Amino acid sequence: MNIYLEIPGDASEALRARLSYAFRLFCAIYGHTPVLNSLRGSHADVFIRYRPQCGGTPLADARTVWLSRGLTDRAPSEPAPCPVKYLRRGLATVLHYEPERCLAPDWLGEIFEWASCADEYSVKARDRHGRPAFAATYAGRHGVDIRVPHAAIAMRGLQQEICRVLPRAEETPRAPQDDKTHFVIPTHDIDYFPRGRAHAAARLMRNALISSLLGRRPLLGVSQAWQGLSVAFGLAGDPLDRLASLALQEQQCGIRSSYYFLARHAHRLDAGYNLLGPGVLDSMRGLEKQGMEIGLHGSYTSLDDGGQLERERDSMQSEGVRVRGSRQHWLRFTLDRLIPEVENAGLDYDTSIGWSTEIGFRAGACFAFPPYNFLREAPAGFLEFPLVVMDQALRGDGQQFHEVAQLIAASRRWGWGGISLLWHPAAFCTAWLPREIGDMYWRLAEDGARFNDCWIKASSFLEIARRRFVEAGLLPAAASSYLPLEIPLPASAGQRRAEPSLAPARAAVSA
Ligand SMILES: [Zn+2]
Repeated sequence: MNIYLEIPGDASEALRARLSYAFRLFCAIYGHTPVLNSLRGSHADVFIRYRPQCGGTPLADARTVWLSRGLTDRAPSEPAPCPVKYLRRGLATVLHYEPERCLAPDWLGEIFEWASCADEYSVKARDRHGRPAFAATYAGRHGVDIRVPHAAIAMRGLQQEICRVLPRAEETPRAPQDDKTHFVIPTHDIDYFPRGRAHAAARLMRNALISSLLGRRPLLGVSQAWQGLSVAFGLAGDPLDRLASLALQEQQCGIRSSYYFLARHAHRLDAGYNLLGPGVLDSMRGLEKQGMEIGLHGSYTSLDDGGQLERERDSMQSEGVRVRGSRQHWLRFTLDRLIPEVENAGLDYDTSIGWSTEIGFRAGACFAFPPYNFLREAPAGFLEFPLVVMDQALRGDGQQFHEVAQLIAASRRWGWGGISLLWHPAAFCTAWLPREIGDMYWRLAEDGARFNDCWIKASSFLEIARRRFVEAGLLPAAASSYLPLEIPLPASAGQRRAEPSLAPARAAVSA
């Protein structure tokens, strides 16, 4: 369907860019063709227009959706307007902008506010890792339920308005493939890599303390301490070393997932390995042979220095690992740094936008989207696959499966997905988190299969979905990532350089 958006003539350049972004994003998800050129507008199937600023009555037009005026060119340093509850036509959500009488809400403005995370730029409160404090965010301040994909509901609201003026239109979005209607991206951050018995025993003892004192799971703590002693005395192998067994089990289940490795160890909260550590590259190559994807886990301080994320990507590429996307270690980022640095690194996607303490939709999005770059007032040059569930955010009490399953069901209900899930390999045992959390991953995979969900690695989803965003005018036609000209042969341990080129190896106290 060709849809023409008439941006108000008095809109500033910034507001024009924001409305255009939201409109193109809506078209990318619903499979429409956006038309913004007035010369071609007359051929459109539907017109979206804003009420004239002078307050005149909108002209009646059978094919025109009239929206209230809401979105402004507000600086991102200013917080978003307080939420207003909205419940109409089966849509229960909150709005940033109260609709005018007899007009539809500014659905494009709502899509923009959520997908751009504009309010988050105004949040000054940080946690001890320098991340925005959830309690200070829009959802935290106003008690907005982030388990509801508000941006996707805003899109449905706009599509419902289109259906009212064009009854033959479908109310639901059209997925990029006819036989797959919902995509989920399973991912794993490699925050532990085995380095011998002493290292494993120390880590287990630390986990025992954390489980007992911070996690309030004394029985789990005792079990982990016992496992630590068993490893220390050579009575058992390293229970945290789950990488190979996880990949094998996924392979047997037909799941191909994405594994994000750190390229360097430069901070005490980076994991206790680096790219050239014993077995690391071999492990990556083994995973690739099993059909898995290798991505970059941006180090703890990778956004502190401009260009560092790019250097980490380059170091993996120089070892012959094709890197197309990343996720920040500890989810340590602020959007004003993450977005330009991922662009600068030439990555095709990122999977960081989620919470480590909450499950839900940080950007209100249960769909892939290019984040908005406020510096350029333009869409970023990469796709975000929003992170909606992370193992550490789960209680592990066995009751939470339904909460997570409902989250994925919400994504299925409102769109065709592109959400990512994060389970660390070490979560698939009792040496870190309760067993129920690892088990939940497999239960979710089974549950997804019942609904014909497609669990797919991020790079494969990118191949399927990217074209939509190109056609909608949000991404350039050519993907950013490239294959290195020469793929080096795997080096034996003795042939490897002693240290990575990026950062000196330090005493390992990993995250
Ligand atoms: Zn990590």
